[in-house]
Parts: sequence; C-alpha cells; structure tokens
Amino acid sequence: MRIFKFGGASVKDAEGVRNLVRVLEETGTEKTFLVVSAMGKTTNAMEAVVDAYFNDKPSVSSALEAVQTYHFGILRELFPPEGHPVHEKVRSLFEEVRGFLAWNKSPKYNFVYDQVVGYGELLSTVIVSAYLNDSGIRCSWLDIRNYIKTDSNYRDVSVIWEKTQSAVSELSNRSELFVTQGFLGSDENNFTTTLGREGSDYTAAIIAYCLNAESVTIWKDVPGVLNADPRYFEETRLLELISYREAIELAFYGAKVLHPKTIRPCVENNIPLRIKNTFNPTHDGTVIVPDNGNGNG
Ligand code: ASP
Ligand code: MG
Repeated sequence: MRIFKFGGASVKDAEGVRNLVRVLEETGTEKTFLVVSAMGKTTNAMEAVVDAYFNDKPSVSSALEAVQTYHFGILRELFPPEGHPVHEKVRSLFEEVRGFLAWNKSPKYNFVYDQVVGYGELLSTVIVSAYLNDSGIRCSWLDIRNYIKTDSNYRDVSVIWEKTQSAVSELSNRSELFVTQGFLGSDENNFTTTLGREGSDYTAAIIAYCLNAESVTIWKDVPGVLNADPRYFEETRLLELISYREAIELAFYGAKVLHPKTIRPCVENNIPLRIKNTFNPTHDGTVIVPDNGNGNG
C-alpha cells in the first residue's frame, strides 16, 4: 500500500484538482490511499468563522459565505452547473455547519473549533472524490473520523492507537482507491477532533503505520527537500536521500519539512517517506529513510 497525501496548496483551485488527476494517471492508483487537506487557505477561513462565532456573532454568516463562495467557484469550474450530485453534497455540508452553529450550546472554544474547522477537509474530499470518479478514476470517499480515534483534547488530540489500529486495519481487505480527509479524527462520543494545524501529514503517517504501508508520499508544490532555504540562499540543491534524523534536524533549523509528529509512526514501521512535486510527478523528489541500513544516518 502507498499512502499519498495532497496538501491544501495542491488543491487550492480547479486547476490543482485537475492536476491531481494527472498525477494519478501518471502514477497509477493500484494499492493507493489518498489523504487530502482542505483546499488552499480554507482552514484559516474556517478559523475566522469560529472567531466570529465567539467574538462577533453578526459576522459569522459573511465569514462562512466567503468559504462557500470559494468552494462554489471551484465546483463551477469542475462540474456541470446542474444535476450533478456533488452540488447537493457540498450544499448539505454547509447546512450542517450552519446548523451546528445555530444549535450549539457549548461555550468551549476548542470544541467548537474542531466541529467547525473540520468541514474544510470534508468539503475538499467530497469535491476531489467526485471529480476523480468523473474523470474515470474510480474511488470511494471515506470518513476518516470512523477510523482515527482520539482523546477529547480538542485542537491537539492524541491518537488512541489500539482503537485506531483495529479500525484502520479493517480497510486492508478492501481494494478500492480511498479518498479521505487529513487532519481529522473523532473522540469517544464521535465528535470531530483535529490533530493540530498542518496535521494531514500526520494522518498519512498514521494510516501508513496501521496498514504497514510500503511508503508515504507527500505531494507538494516544491521539487522536494532542499539543502538550504531558497529565500536566503541563491544556490540550493535538492536532497535526494536523507535520513529521518536529518529531516528532524532540518526541521529544527527552520526548514520546515514535515509535521513533527509525522516522523515517528514512519520510523517505527520502517516506512520511507517521499516528498514529490505535483507538477513533475515522474521526478524522484526526496526520499526520507530510517537511519539504519542506508549508511547515511
Ligand atoms: N488543513 C489543515 C491545516 O491547514 C491540515 C493540513 O493542511 O495539514 O492546518
Ligand atoms: Mg491545510
């Protein structure tokens, strides 16, 4: 099994979604599992909705409308204007958020945050999976909240590994291409939880660990990991192979490569992690490997 993760920047507009199809046509989809983040800056925009809810109620609806307009714009470019079931699915997700905000009684910011912000990933995966199916790449939308189980420490939950492992491993008997949400889980009471900002990489690693996957690929809009920050250095070089230890050190030196929690599940199961460019899918990019056995650690 290969786990592919596409970040928000890769699906920030209709062209990004079309490009995702091109990537999959290039790589094939056999034994592949897709994890997708919220589109573009949707998570920030949903955070603004939550802020409005707590600090400026009258502006909730315009904050939510901004998110809706953005997604409707992408829908318009990808699907026929009427009659396609994706429109209804997207509309009903917005209805759900509105319903939640109207009826919610909880004064707890972090709880409300997770219930609301998580819709970014639900929206993106509904749109991406519908578009893949229309493009002839058969796939199944999966609600990852039924599989990644966490505690209730909203906004920064810990994974309950035993429950997660047993739920996720059920999926190994199925052969379809799954499209699921990064960043999300659910707690004991089935409330939505989030793994922390930029947590979709971690989702990919959790699934990889539970399925004992052969690799994780993080698809980005950059060619891979560079030896220096191109904003400050003129001559940078792509690192083709680095160890997890080096990746951690790079992260430490400010070259943010991966969500820090991502590395551990991969190291524990010896799973290599690739960083590849969505605009150049046949190029190798960078592979990050466990420290032992490569003479590089
Ligand atoms: N959408 C979430 C965020 O922007 C998770 C992620 O992108 O990894 O933080
Ligand atoms: Mg994101």
